[in-house]
Amino acid sequence: MGFVLSEKGFEKLIRHLSDTYRLYAPVLKPGEGRFTDTDVVRYDFVKDSAEIELSKKSDYSFKEILTPLSETLFYFTEQEMKEADADEQPVLVFLRNCDLHALRRLDQIYLQNGTSQDWFYNRIRRNLSFALIGCAESCEDGFCVSMGANKNVEGYLFSIDQEDGKFLFDVKDFSLLPVFADLGNEAEVTPRFVTENKVQVSIPETVPNSIYQNPIWDEYNTRCIGCGRCNFVCPTCTCYTMQDVFYTENGKVGERRRVAASCMVDGYTNVAGGGQYRKSSAERMRFKVLHKVYDFRRRFGYDMCVGCGRCDMACPEYISFPVCINKLNRAVKEGQIHE
Ligand code: SF4
Ligand code: SF4
Repeated sequence: MGFVLSEKGFEKLIRHLSDTYRLYAPVLKPGEGRFTDTDVVRYDFVKDSAEIELSKKSDYSFKEILTPLSETLFYFTEQEMKEADADEQPVLVFLRNCDLHALRRLDQIYLQNGTSQDWFYNRIRRNLSFALIGCAESCEDGFCVSMGANKNVEGYLFSIDQEDGKFLFDVKDFSLLPVFADLGNEAEVTPRFVTENKVQVSIPETVPNSIYQNPIWDEYNTRCIGCGRCNFVCPTCTCYTMQDVFYTENGKVGERRRVAASCMVDGYTNVAGGGQYRKSSAERMRFKVLHKVYDFRRRFGYDMCVGCGRCDMACPEYISFPVCINKLNRAVKEGQIHE
């Protein structure tokens, strides 16, 4: 059911929701961008409607609420182990279509990948609900339409769109209907989504093994500096590593942390005995790209990348992920003609 609220009504709605939920939303942080005098949009907890950034796509994804950069899993002594306490208060996350699609990928990896679920992920996930921010127009770098991540999402309590100083809501959660009815008027509302992006990609249906030796990857040896920014902003990257932190010099008391990791950073594939699976930046780029638009699909039936474009926004070397996908597609096609 749809509702239209005034700015005052939206303010009251956010205050009302704050009684039940911690609200986690994109927030514009003036002057906190990568370069001097630049802004950044990152996720943060909010209490006021004015804090929520509804127009600009966030530079960083919402995933840090689900997969924190550093998360203590448990504490240990010589005799016992205790799981770290979790905050059990429900959280309402404001996000866009591409990010709701990304959530499906995160759930797939942590909850539906093999015979057991990730217990620590699940205990955060079960307390999260979502509010969908509509997209009136395409962002600069996104290619969500090519990735099929621009619309058709379920799993949100309500959507929110801004139009001529009013706020439009498509309310899916029946328990919230009386709140919206009290604060605004009924209206026909369809959450906005984009149907076209400036950036488009073509994804190969299948990839021959010969692509591993293809020269398309070579340029990344000189261009990519292995900083890992592309992974940390990506809403679908899920890699992590483990750290045991010891409190005492005898090393028998401490905590185990799960810490975000990056497949693009040197050392990620180091193994015992001095081995390393992917030594060069080209090999790492090949792995990342094929994982996002081919290998994940082979396992789960759909692509991992949702086309949010954040990796392009973050890369200090101006490496474009969609350009790389299109190069891959061309190389596969040319290979097929020659074979
Ligand atoms: S690979 Fe890039 S475009 Fe695709 S989901 Fe990750 S950040 Fe977004
Ligand atoms: S952000 Fe760019 S330079 Fe950094 S690891 Fe990713 S592709 Fe390489």
